[in-house]
Amino acid sequence: MSKLIVFCEHQNQNLKRSSIELLQFGKSKNFEVVGVVLGAEGQKAAEQATANGASEVLFFNDVKLNGYNPELYLAALEAGIKQSGARHVLAPASSAGKDVFPRLAARLDSSIASDCVALTVEGDTLIAKKPLYAGKAFAQVNLKDSPVQIVLMRANQLPVATAGSANPGAVKIVALPAVDLKAILKEVVKGASEKLDLTEANVIVSGGRGLKEAGNFKMLEDMANVLGATVGASRAVVDSGWVSHSMQVGQTGKTVAPTLYIAVGISGAIQHLAGMTGSKVIVAINNDPNAPIFQKATYGIVGDLFEIVPKLTEEFKKLLHK
Ligand SMILES: Cc1cc2nc3c(=O)[nH]c(=O)nc-3n(C[C@H](O)[C@H](O)[C@H](O)COP(=O)(O)OP(=O)(O)OC[C@H]3O[C@@H](n4cnc5c(N)ncnc54)[C@H](O)[C@@H]3O)c2cc1C
Repeated sequence: MSKLIVFCEHQNQNLKRSSIELLQFGKSKNFEVVGVVLGAEGQKAAEQATANGASEVLFFNDVKLNGYNPELYLAALEAGIKQSGARHVLAPASSAGKDVFPRLAARLDSSIASDCVALTVEGDTLIAKKPLYAGKAFAQVNLKDSPVQIVLMRANQLPVATAGSANPGAVKIVALPAVDLKAILKEVVKGASEKLDLTEANVIVSGGRGLKEAGNFKMLEDMANVLGATVGASRAVVDSGWVSHSMQVGQTGKTVAPTLYIAVGISGAIQHLAGMTGSKVIVAINNDPNAPIFQKATYGIVGDLFEIVPKLTEEFKKLLHK
């Protein structure tokens, strides 16, 4: 059985869904799965990794890894891969993943496929599918001739089954190698929202210029609270200063793939679509029947969002909180 190592990201001490998907994928394909957990806040996540398919977890229990520092992450991940002897590496295509793994690939002289939306295994080779030209085309990437194969997967692309029971005995504490740091992380300023990050969210309610002004985002927050959703936005409203850039979905924002994406007052420009067409069900609310978003929508509601959104929120409340 060959070894596959998974970079296990965690947030608020819990393993992120994106990492759970990768651990379970490795296990389902009969790999011997090794998890790597970074940071002293990762104890619980390390145990959760054992419940989701990892037969061993390398836990770098070090406060210096609590915030993202590329030099330290690079050193820890390189040490983890070398120690495990794994030839296959899976990681979430998160901000940290997309920053550190290309560096690691250069160091290990290995191939890498980033931002992938599907993954299969043939023999000993990972075969990944990744979008090109903002989703207009797809490439099938075969990583076979590389000493180490690295694939970065977008979240919500692989199924997740119920976790088994944790095995704290499989968690091995590993020391961070000494690094001659060129930069020191002094502070991480967290966004105000405690909501799940857009890239991890299962339901997203996104707003565009059709909302007319910043204050009207409150309507979307109300709907999101009822649905347990995260609020996203188009670039037009981010550029207008209504909401923060961390909420932007699209080519120059975040790529999301929730089960349900509700686009409210968003026209559906190609750069917006590039970030959300991986959503399983898309609902568009727009008063222009010719808005391009309807070409991609599973369900379209033509009408005034100021009438429709409050009514829908009321109905969701009745359905979900009876
Ligand atoms: C290089 C580049 C990168 C870009 N990256 C991104 C990106 O990452 N993400 C992104 O989103 N955009 C991006 N853009 C911008 C993109 O081209 C669009 O300008 C932007 O997505 C439009 O945002 P919008 O849909 O909110 O606004 P608009 O296009 O103005 O659409 C508003 C919609 O609201 C509808 N509407 C108005 N009033 C109501 C009402 N009362 N009820 C219902 N519907 C109503 C209108 O019919 C319209 O369809 C990028 C552009 C460039 C050039």
